[in-house]
Amino acid sequence: MLSESEFWSQHRVAEGGCWLWTGRLDGDGYGLVDVDAGFPARAHRKAWEFRFGPIPTGKNVLHKCDHPACIRPSHLYLGTTVQNVMDMVNRGRVRSKLKTADIIAIRKDPRSKSAIAEHYGVSLTTIISIINRKTWAHVKDEQEPVPAPQYAPFSASRMSMKFID
Ligand SMILES: [Zn+2]
Repeated sequence: MLSESEFWSQHRVAEGGCWLWTGRLDGDGYGLVDVDAGFPARAHRKAWEFRFGPIPTGKNVLHKCDHPACIRPSHLYLGTTVQNVMDMVNRGRVRSKLKTADIIAIRKDPRSKSAIAEHYGVSLTTIISIINRKTWAHVKDEQEPVPAPQYAPFSASRMSMKFID
């Protein structure tokens, strides 16, 4: 079994201050470390346990830095899988670049949803959410009509007074 000091020595410092695992990686790019009886664990999880203690049930050790091989404790945090997806969205991988006028046009667009997605350079999910009004629900199909100006009612009596004078 690997000692803690041996564990921490297996990294190289990379851009952004990441400590990238120099041992073997799994198919998703996470570092792998052999722990008890040769059963491999993910290195970043082991890093968390060495530094902070046991990982609470139902929580995952996630990366702030988007480098699965990073084992630097300050780049790790506990969260749920759902949170991981949300964080990826918030970090700008799926940032919206659509404007209100685009939303109105997308909802009227007769093309297939995938063609619309390609046209605007966004995901199909984004287009479906817009059309189903799961997102951009505040945008109406048309701009609000400008109300006709209200004039004071025509006064016949005043006119006739004028002519009498
Ligand atoms: Zn990192």
